[in-house]
Amino acid sequence: MKYSLIADAYEKIEETTKRLKMTDLLVKLISQAPKELISKISYLTQGKLHPDFMGIELGMAEKMVISAVSKASGVEKEKVVSEWRRTGDLGTTTEELLKSKPLSDTPLEILEVYKVFDKIAHTTGKGSVNEKINLLVSLLKKATPKEARYLVRMVTRRLRLGIGDMTFLDALAIAYTGSKNARKEVEKAYNLSSDLGLVAETLANEGLDCIRTFKIRMGRPVRAMLAERLSSADEILKKLGGKGAAEYKYDGLRIQAHLSPSGIQLFSRRLENITSQFPDVVKALEDGIKAGQAIVEGECVAIDPNTAEIQPFQVLTRRRGRKYEVEAMAEEIPTTIFLFDALHVDGEDLLDKPYPERRKALQRIVNEGEHVKLSEQLVTDDPEEIDRLLVNAVESGYEGLVLKSIGEDSVYRAGARGFLWIKYKRDYKSELIDTIDLVVVGAFAGRGRRAGTYGALLMAAYDTESDGFKTVSKLGTGFNDANLAKLPKTLKPYKIDHIHPRVDSQIEADYWFAPTVVLEVIGAELTLSPSHTCGLNIVREGAGLAIRFPRFTGKWRNDKSAEDATTVKEIVDMYKSQLKKF
Ligand code: ATP
Repeated sequence: MKYSLIADAYEKIEETTKRLKMTDLLVKLISQAPKELISKISYLTQGKLHPDFMGIELGMAEKMVISAVSKASGVEKEKVVSEWRRTGDLGTTTEELLKSKPLSDTPLEILEVYKVFDKIAHTTGKGSVNEKINLLVSLLKKATPKEARYLVRMVTRRLRLGIGDMTFLDALAIAYTGSKNARKEVEKAYNLSSDLGLVAETLANEGLDCIRTFKIRMGRPVRAMLAERLSSADEILKKLGGKGAAEYKYDGLRIQAHLSPSGIQLFSRRLENITSQFPDVVKALEDGIKAGQAIVEGECVAIDPNTAEIQPFQVLTRRRGRKYEVEAMAEEIPTTIFLFDALHVDGEDLLDKPYPERRKALQRIVNEGEHVKLSEQLVTDDPEEIDRLLVNAVESGYEGLVLKSIGEDSVYRAGARGFLWIKYKRDYKSELIDTIDLVVVGAFAGRGRRAGTYGALLMAAYDTESDGFKTVSKLGTGFNDANLAKLPKTLKPYKIDHIHPRVDSQIEADYWFAPTVVLEVIGAELTLSPSHTCGLNIVREGAGLAIRFPRFTGKWRNDKSAEDATTVKEIVDMYKSQLKKF
């Protein structure tokens, strides 16, 4: 299959502002693909070569790509750079520069592109810079200008198609089963495997029956089960059927650990393999877990090396993403992992077991020590006890509580946010609402002191119904100078010419972004709004919801993807529970 088919599809996807059209275009692309290529096309379309957890990243420094473009086009590097400055996009620049070159006789094949990209990703060590450049040149020489645009965006990690996983799963279901009806089952397989390519390949080759038999596998992270939120102990107990397990909500990094005789692997909430960043957690689990094979989950928090007290989340973030000085940092900022779930123990999958059984299995295998502990838990049916525990939690520096269902149906629902887990937090500083995580979808030009950066950001919540984003706030406060200065650089890679097809906004922003960057926001309360689309027509005809006095808390939620942001449904629920308080 020719790479031009992919490039054409990408171009059309980029041009559309309608999500249904985006899905149609994907269905068409998938339907054209031979079965043996479908997994590769799935990864490529997500800007990847492999699922995230494999940790194999395609990426070349811009400097290297500029050398490659210069070699392939015969244009001086300086000219490439100045053209790039003008267009702001190396992909477009390459396309323009290659227009005057004669076209190659042999068209680029998808498999060839994939293989060369994979080689680039695996080339390391001495001489690797030149080798990578030459590999890219070999592709650019055969590419049409349009293909080159996407090749360059891929290697610079700027393929901004913004196709959500759910949109892709829709397209897979339609392409291979003829309708969207099978989406839920396809999604379940994805939640268990976190591997779009594997799901696509299985569906293409073995059909829906095989998708239904998907099981968790060691070394492949399961997508995280997530919590809803409520704001009173009574409501929570009612939802949980009168009784539940109250646990501290530790404020750290969620880790899913896979332990097997061949070693331990750690995965983040975003399913990246973070094993090498946390050798201390690996060691602690080696010592603290007595099982041949297990998949456990917990929250990893930083602790003070002198007092063993739990440190704020920000301290732990200093340990993230490091390639060097990992051991030294582990000594400077030691951690404890508070384990709260077991998904698999010694050959037995526990996902479909009720939570009390999973917890028992966890207790059986954990040998508590300084660096591995079980989450504190209290099973109760008393709302006052829950409130006392909440005060206790907040006073001791935890974020609040997570209350968990202990009913027969309290299974581990991979990849789903539901009321089997309920967050109960109280921010004493802000009267009405808890912090929420919103996605930057647009921005307004800054004036006066903010000239050169953004004056305010247009923020949106994630809408699970449409797999899109609905605006809920114009955010201009809470940015210190450092954060303000960081904004343009952080957002630049996601800048697009028009509103993104997955964003629903009635407000015209000066700049638009592919929904990617997530910020934590706090506000005074939620109010009805004539201009925002979050919750539009749900609470009242013609009105959406907005946050009053929104403020950036200073927390960049790099650990969250746009689809992990607070949902429209959560905001509507928050609005409703806010009303009940008066
Ligand atoms: P937040 O930003 O509030 O952490 P989130 O979207 O990351 O939210 P939620 O499912 O909404 O995740 O809230 C539960 C989160 O709380 C888990 O993802 C986990 O990281 C953290 N957590 C801390 N302590 C616990 C616990 N005892 N049980 C479950 N999750 C816990």
